[in-house]
Amino acid sequence: MKIMPNRMDYGYFKYQKEFEEKALSVLRSGWYVLGNEVKTFEENFAAYTGAKYCVGLASGLDALWIAVKLLGIGAGDEVIVQGNTYIASVMGITINGATPIFVEPDAYYQIDAEKIEEKITERTKAVMVVHLYGHVADMDKITQICKKHRLKLIEDCAQSHGGLHNGQMTGTFGDAGCFSFYPSKNLGAFGDAGALVTNDPKLAEDARIFRNYGSEKRYHNRVVGANSRLDELQAGLLNVRLAHMKEITEERRRLAAVYDRTLCHSHLILPRERPDTKSVWHQYVIRTQYRQALMEYLEQKGVGTLIHYPIPPHLAEAYASLGHMRGELPITESYADTVLSLPLYTGMPEEEQQYTIDCINAFFRERCIPVSK
Ligand SMILES: *Cc1c(COP(=O)(O)O)cnc(C)c1O
Repeated sequence: MKIMPNRMDYGYFKYQKEFEEKALSVLRSGWYVLGNEVKTFEENFAAYTGAKYCVGLASGLDALWIAVKLLGIGAGDEVIVQGNTYIASVMGITINGATPIFVEPDAYYQIDAEKIEEKITERTKAVMVVHLYGHVADMDKITQICKKHRLKLIEDCAQSHGGLHNGQMTGTFGDAGCFSFYPSKNLGAFGDAGALVTNDPKLAEDARIFRNYGSEKRYHNRVVGANSRLDELQAGLLNVRLAHMKEITEERRRLAAVYDRTLCHSHLILPRERPDTKSVWHQYVIRTQYRQALMEYLEQKGVGTLIHYPIPPHLAEAYASLGHMRGELPITESYADTVLSLPLYTGMPEEEQQYTIDCINAFFRERCIPVSK
């Protein structure tokens, strides 16, 4: 059997007819950028998240960049972010000239809320929370800290579409929720796309103007903006997928529960859901000191896995100028050395998951690594 870490084609074929009909209708409409599909998607996605406003953008990174910028954060300012994130979160900060201040993750792979306050200085302007792997950060504590210290709160929800904390959706706890609809995300487009959600009418309006060369009315440019528009084709296809999000999320939760029930070894640390939250399982990330051997073994058996992420941003070549050293963020670094993401995707057949499980169990059995249960 050959199993890939992700199968975006399965997610397409599952709703093939609807996607194809929508694509044809957009192609035939003669209107391709910022039209009815975008407007409808913005309304639908705002309603889905529970935010007042949604502004469609060209990518998740653009959503982060534009949110940080329009919240008035720039050179000389510091933004607190977790160490174990995808580098795009950090680029959303540094593009604006601001400095990322890294905080270690907790046992749920989210920013450790207990370690935020010690990093706050007079330069701190915001906390950027990344709901990594589809899990949900400790939003009670984080919102309290932001209120107490008058910090902006930006959520990177690129991996957490639909994730809940006490019934409230990620992206709606702070000033801005930034989403990516890159094809591999839980709510994926068929190309690049992103959005910002907010309850702040001014931020929504500023983002709407900024994304279109700073113009509110054609050829009347209020500010120096950018081209970060969401196109009609992507918005139309996103409207199709968004209508199935409940089912898509439930399927991921069911697949995660199967892994939870069937994988259990003393050398395997399984992901957990924080109490009072609902994870949307963007990734099912295990941790083991035998990662390299397990990954190679699975590869031989035809099971593809990925590492999210092997090099934490503070050690990335791109950020050498920040001057960080190995050993500065020991938890982040140990996660980078031991995490492994198992295949989990919309439309994953039971046999593919069972085969993956059998191979992992066989690895620990064959290597005579003691089993805990
Ligand atoms: C994918 C991702 C992004 C960037 O989204 P793009 O649409 O690829 O620009 C940002 N943050 C996280 C955590 C992501 O996973």
